[in-house]
Amino acid sequence: MAANPVVIIFGDVDTSFKLLFRKLKKLAIKLNNVSMALCCGNFFKRDCDEEWNEIKRGNLKAPLQIYILGPTSEALKKFYPDCHEMTDLAERITFLGKSGSFRTAEGVKLVYLSGSFSASKRSDLTYSYEDINKVTKDTLKEKPDFLLTWSWPHHFGQLVKTHPEIKYPEIASTFLFSTLGPQYHIAARERKLLEVSAQRIYKDGGNAGISRFIGLSNLEVNANHDWIKALTVTPTKSDNTRECTDLIPLHLNDIGTFMANQCHPTVKPVSMDEKRFAKPRPYKKFEVKEHKCWFCTSNPNFDKHMVIAMGDFSYLALAKGPLTQDHTIICSVEHIASMRLAEEDLRFEIERFKLALREMYENSVTIFFERVYRTCHLQIHCIPIPNVSTTDIVSSFKILANKYGLKINEVLDTKMCYMTLKKDDEYFHVDLSEGHELIIAGNLERLFPLNFGREALACESLLNIPEKLNWRECEQTKDEEIKIVETLKKKFQKFDFTVL
Ligand SMILES: [Zn+2]
Repeated sequence: MAANPVVIIFGDVDTSFKLLFRKLKKLAIKLNNVSMALCCGNFFKRDCDEEWNEIKRGNLKAPLQIYILGPTSEALKKFYPDCHEMTDLAERITFLGKSGSFRTAEGVKLVYLSGSFSASKRSDLTYSYEDINKVTKDTLKEKPDFLLTWSWPHHFGQLVKTHPEIKYPEIASTFLFSTLGPQYHIAARERKLLEVSAQRIYKDGGNAGISRFIGLSNLEVNANHDWIKALTVTPTKSDNTRECTDLIPLHLNDIGTFMANQCHPTVKPVSMDEKRFAKPRPYKKFEVKEHKCWFCTSNPNFDKHMVIAMGDFSYLALAKGPLTQDHTIICSVEHIASMRLAEEDLRFEIERFKLALREMYENSVTIFFERVYRTCHLQIHCIPIPNVSTTDIVSSFKILANKYGLKINEVLDTKMCYMTLKKDDEYFHVDLSEGHELIIAGNLERLFPLNFGREALACESLLNIPEKLNWRECEQTKDEEIKIVETLKKKFQKFDFTVL
């Protein structure tokens, strides 16, 4: 029987191809049975034209077969004659294609998705639902040996918390890791080394083996050897199919459902309703016209003087009729109804705002709440409360929920628990601290109390300002608002990531 193949993996090739090839050659000599190399980062860089031409002319040769992913920026597109189809770019250097799966001559099964995920479109630089659908369908019955993506998963297995050091987490990548259950999932976008293994338990309690995630750093001259790894692979056999009776049919309409799937106590394989899954749906249209919406920056009457910081997808502003001098709101730039419906880049930026505010109010408990009941534009309120404990806040919300006959759930070890809801569900969500949330969910027959969040925090045991319950009674003059915004701008300056 032939020995198991050894596969070499690496991320961004920041320095020269010469250095890479030298290293690959050395490894191929040192280790037996090296069969191929996989690059899940940027194989090319902006100014590598000269060396690439040397390779194309045949003056510089890859010592073994290298499979690479597609471009991740406009500048790198020129190296690919086609950003979608599998192409041999030079001798022993093959671009895998936009997405797909295939088994190499050595029996190693690869699944790959090029670029980053976009819920709205498939492009030269992005993959979308149809790609996820394709690879999931292809590998439903057999576990791949390698899954290659550029971005790291948002989280791993049942751990819903994002790894604190991940800058560009993707839920799509999480979904692929959890659903395909590859022996190895490799990704490179964060440019650092991380190895995570996750035991996969199916719903019936059966063990479906271990999946490992490996985040790769970039190739650096004189660095230690952490940027490259050699793995011995026991290829899954094509006839060794997974037990399909365990599959639970789920309709995965959108990225949010991926998250919902993750929040289930057991990580389970899924099948997909192809038709619904393949086509991204446009956001639900809301009644309020954008030009009339207070929170849309495109509205000519938008209150610019309320803005404290402006990001790419969201902004931080003083709240109208604020509960305290530090009561702010984070809103989306575009007219989007809720966090539940937000695209990942927007959600990600809002998380950065939250983090910055928590740092700014480090001596307080900083509460964020979102009320999605007959609202049309995403707004998250931020109110720091000094000298209280999270427990006091939880009990205040519980007491108030009880008063209004609402069912409130306290969720621990979670993040963005509203992602488990259906797209059109209404909810009230409180983010108390990292991994600690409260949620009231479900559409109500009557109107959800308008000032619910304010009421919970204004109470005697917390801010003790019951007279400020109604925002209309707290409205200020424009001059007053300008003054507070100036103060907040100064305070936020040190934490403002939007100016970088
Ligand atoms: Zn709006």
